[in-house]
Amino acid sequence: MDLALSADDLAWKARAKSFAQAELFPHELALEMDGALPQTTKDRLREAVVAHGLHGINHAREVGGQGCTQLQQTLINEELGKATNALWAVVWHPAVPLKYGTAAQIRDFLTPSCLGQRRACVAVTEPDAGSDTGMIRTSAARRGERYLISGEKWFVTSADAADYIIVHAIVDGDAAKPTLFLVDSNAKGVRVKREPKFTHTYVFGHHELVFDGVEVGEDRVLGAVGQGLELTKDWFVEARLQIAANCLGAAVRAFELANDWASRRVQFGAPIRKHQAIEFMLADMAVEIMAAKSLVYRVACQIDRGIDRKVAHARASVVKLHASEMAGRVLDKAVQIFGGRGYMRENPVERLSRDVRVDRIWEGTSEIQRLIIGGQLAKRGPDLFTEW
Ligand SMILES: Cc1cc2nc3c(=O)[nH]c(=O)nc-3n(C[C@H](O)[C@H](O)[C@H](O)COP(=O)(O)OP(=O)(O)OC[C@H]3O[C@@H](n4cnc5c(N)ncnc54)[C@H](O)[C@@H]3O)c2cc1C
Repeated sequence: MDLALSADDLAWKARAKSFAQAELFPHELALEMDGALPQTTKDRLREAVVAHGLHGINHAREVGGQGCTQLQQTLINEELGKATNALWAVVWHPAVPLKYGTAAQIRDFLTPSCLGQRRACVAVTEPDAGSDTGMIRTSAARRGERYLISGEKWFVTSADAADYIIVHAIVDGDAAKPTLFLVDSNAKGVRVKREPKFTHTYVFGHHELVFDGVEVGEDRVLGAVGQGLELTKDWFVEARLQIAANCLGAAVRAFELANDWASRRVQFGAPIRKHQAIEFMLADMAVEIMAAKSLVYRVACQIDRGIDRKVAHARASVVKLHASEMAGRVLDKAVQIFGGRGYMRENPVERLSRDVRVDRIWEGTSEIQRLIIGGQLAKRGPDLFTEW
């Protein structure tokens, strides 16, 4: 068994690390203190993503992406995840289902999105439909060769940075026809209802959007009518691995900072790491990170080797559940080791402790991951999780 990273893998990791340090870290404090970054800074960051060759890492070279393996994406997302305020979000990952688009959709949406000329946001969640997507009521009423989309979507991340929206709607009010539509952000009938504030200070917004009879043509259906849920399955695998990798990065940065502080901070005549309570916390953090990292990299490698799609789906849930809960535990310890300083917003550890909380909620809550894992355990047996 060869557990070494290839020269190529290491080069991607180094590239992401230098991007995070040179382009993301310098903006962390201003974003936290001002609550937002100036548009000129966001524009410059978009150019920097392209200059560093980090655009479209999750898509093939033929469509404008970088053709990175899942492991390489994991290494990149881990480095980006070290940045606070979820600044990793300035690096776009065009939605996976776009690759199932028509040739025209790939030309007009996917390729420009990989290149940073266009950006999508994704609108699935509704006031009455969160974990239970079967409750989605946004409807696409067919009128000849056109559709009229009406409904309300919540938590639409990066809606303020996007020029088009991937909208999950049910055709003709039929829950058996969940369908993805490509809708221009400035289309008639699209309206921002609210821009709520959240626990983290995120680089973009999470808007509530209203769709009021928004008219689109048949050419804006992504995949086929009724394929909406099916198309999101591979996407969930990638998104859950991305979250897990971001969590690793957050935990590693907090661990390094806490470890350094524990050596420098002297109380009761000794560096605090000499007090066993602190030493044990550091030891637990080391173990947590090492275990989570082994799991995340392993599943990324297995996906690259082409494991069965359903197995990948189940294991992505394991990875997301474990890494996000690990990050919560590690960040909590890091705050504790810093004492009062760990509660100051100027401390990256404090910001990361808020940033990672949502990782147990979005892209399927921890409870939903357990439901998926439990369901697969009942269907396929323990080997799925225990074999090596
Ligand atoms: C910052 C942020 C950004 C987001 N970005 C996007 C986005 O870009 N696009 C988008 O479409 N959505 C987005 N979301 C929505 C996110 O995916 C949902 O919040 C998430 O799926 C949970 O849905 P909910 O909030 O409605 O909670 P609910 O589904 O109402 O769940 C509430 C609680 O009940 C639990 N629960 C629900 N069902 C079960 C069950 N069967 N068994 C056990 N427990 C259960 C949940 O785990 C949770 O603890 C975002 C959310 C946040 C907070």
